[in-house]
Amino acid sequence: MSEKTIFKRIIDKEIPAQIVYEDDLCMAFKDVHPQAPVHILLIPKKEIASTDQLTEADTPLLGHLYGVLRQLVKEFNLQDGYRVVTNCGQNGGQTVYHLHFHLLGGRPLLWPPG
Ligand code: 5GP
Repeated sequence: MSEKTIFKRIIDKEIPAQIVYEDDLCMAFKDVHPQAPVHILLIPKKEIASTDQLTEADTPLLGHLYGVLRQLVKEFNLQDGYRVVTNCGQNGGQTVYHLHFHLLGGRPLLWPPG
């Protein structure tokens, strides 16, 4: 069996994280290297490596994740605007191969990204 990703180890509570939300399907925690005043990572508990691995069966899960994102937006007072980012693959800048959504906010964000 391949080695667990760092995020799977966080799900399994083998390594600590500043968890801000958790339910049966997903978990959200603060990014260890925040790029904005609010930088939260939202991940499904299901091991999906990246957006490339999503299937039709994951559609309800994605809807659930976006519902949780909206809750986090309210909880962290991001109503003035925020960004949701999913990096995919080498050119997309993905470093952890467990699907995740970056929720960034708390300052004006530049566009386009680098
Ligand atoms: P990616 O580059 O794959 O889109 O994003 C991975 C993110 O995970 C990065 O923003 C990185 O700072 C964050 N990260 C990597 N290792 C850890 C960790 O052990 N704990 C937490 N909380 N975040 C991590």
